[in-house]
Amino acid sequence: MRAGLDLGGTKIQAVVTARGARVAGQARRNTPTRGGPEALVGELAGTVRDALAAAGADAGDLESIGIGAPGSIDVATGSGLQVANVEVLDGPYPLAPALADALGVPVALGNDVNVAVEAERRFGAGRGFRSFLGVFWGTGVGGGLVVDGRLLVGRGSAGEIGHTCAKAGGRRCSCGLRGCVEAYAGRAALETRARREARKRKTVLFDLMRKRGRSQLTSGVWLRALDARDEVAHDLLREAVEALGIGIGSAVTLLDVDAVIVGGGLGERLGPTWLRRIEKAAARHTFFDVAPVYRLAELGDLGGAIGASLLAVPKRASGA
Ligand SMILES: [Zn+2]
Repeated sequence: MRAGLDLGGTKIQAVVTARGARVAGQARRNTPTRGGPEALVGELAGTVRDALAAAGADAGDLESIGIGAPGSIDVATGSGLQVANVEVLDGPYPLAPALADALGVPVALGNDVNVAVEAERRFGAGRGFRSFLGVFWGTGVGGGLVVDGRLLVGRGSAGEIGHTCAKAGGRRCSCGLRGCVEAYAGRAALETRARREARKRKTVLFDLMRKRGRSQLTSGVWLRALDARDEVAHDLLREAVEALGIGIGSAVTLLDVDAVIVGGGLGERLGPTWLRRIEKAAARHTFFDVAPVYRLAELGDLGGAIGASLLAVPKRASGA
């Protein structure tokens, strides 16, 4: 058995897998917002223990543990260099060795989007394609590339489709650049713009948010607003699709991949109808007529954690 952890800004998802992608147990906890890296390691270990209990197993049954974390990672040492959105990690920290010490199991660390793409390649919508672009449309817009059967890592950051340019001199992105795909399509950027629009136009977005007891515009809130024919939601998402189309269409022109696989909270909740819209928007920015196949990701919420469980532990990082 192996365990995989998907570390996000708000939650930690753990799975215990047997023989590849079969999930034997899973658990979820909140990402701590105080207590420093030690508190985080404690919660990561606790989430693994919860998932083990759900699987009827214990740490002694684990061959390895993988962590998928957002941001830049030093795979060789298992250190997070610049982990995005996780408040308690504000500098480099040897996350993998610390968790290995806590649980007595070897731990590997990888980039969250890369591990999710690897999971789709082996067990999800990417099966059977030699080359594909994975696009994870959620709070941000993450991406990963499989080229000729292998995940393209580059110098560590390949596949950042969300930070390719959709509009020169356009909106400021959270990364500091202007006009990024994510500045138009990421859920965080969409929410900022929806708040601004709400001062000028009627929208049900924030009523739906409160009614559902949320403090943010979740993917489910966007979906309900679309169903209610909310104009602001429609306009902003149409613009998001246009930006995604420019980024994806340009990437397809450059790489001529067999498939484009769209996942992430928004990608999955909006489903096939909006996937077709992304495909059409991308076709307007693709040089050749033979388009790749467009598919929705198949592994859903657990894809990141399943992918993390597949990480191989580098020799130097295996503290246990
Ligand atoms: Zn950006």
